[in-house]
Amino acid sequence: MIILKLGGSIITNKDSKDPICNYGALKRLANEIKSVLINNSKEKLIVVHGAGSFGHNFANKYDIGSIFKDENDFNYKRKGFSITNNCTKKLNTYVCDALIEFDIPAIAVQPSSIFMAENKRIIQSNIDLIKKYLDLGLVPVLYGDVILDVNEHINLVVISGDQIINYLARELRPNKVILGTDVDGVYNKNPKTNVDSKLIHQVSSLNDLDSQDSTTNIDVTGGMFGKIKELLCLAELGINSQIINANNPNLMKNALLGDETIGTIVKID
Ligand code: ADP
Repeated sequence: MIILKLGGSIITNKDSKDPICNYGALKRLANEIKSVLINNSKEKLIVVHGAGSFGHNFANKYDIGSIFKDENDFNYKRKGFSITNNCTKKLNTYVCDALIEFDIPAIAVQPSSIFMAENKRIIQSNIDLIKKYLDLGLVPVLYGDVILDVNEHINLVVISGDQIINYLARELRPNKVILGTDVDGVYNKNPKTNVDSKLIHQVSSLNDLDSQDSTTNIDVTGGMFGKIKELLCLAELGINSQIINANNPNLMKNALLGDETIGTIVKID
């Protein structure tokens, strides 16, 4: 089984104020995925995608996930919850459109309908549904979304695609976890703002990164630092993952085919 992530920075224009889908990258990646599946039709696949500009702007604007100050604040956040959910769902439709165009039997799974959180961490899910889809050869497609939280002071929270990957991988024990993003892997500091940053081929600890600098402004779920935190939880269980630059044609395909020299491996020796 493979769990594959299409980063919000790849499939959307993440810096845009408005939701903008990068259809070109989406189609190219769907084609790369298909070219691998063609030779291995028994492989189970789950696709998780980020929300990019379809989610982070709204979640930021409505401050989803912070404690309700009063009833007005609750009403405001409730509106934002609804808007964010609706917008990420649109992006999910574009992702499924592209996969289906390349004959990949995608089935949209809306996180807000199958997950519940406690203090912003997923605690409940309908995992049997996902297992059943996989058994039938369908490809569940999940995404960073807003979900309900049992903590009554927050109730409405955001979960990242990366947290979903952590949760699903724990439950389903895939043999590959591959995350496509818009940089060549994990660097000791943000490569977009530091010319002297160095690519790290294997990350085994958060100390390999400079935490102050390892997040992007727009990302409400922690950027690269948040991603590594989730993946290190998996590495502790012996589930390794690989972060690659999905902007470079064929890297996703080659990673799916097993090339571990690409990008960064998150692994604890
Ligand atoms: P995605 O939306 O693709 O899941 P994120 O936006 O969450 O990805 O994370 C990727 C971004 O993280 C990159 O665009 C990069 O600018 C930023 N970043 C910050 N710190 C680092 C780091 N130490 N190594 C790599 N990228 C980093």
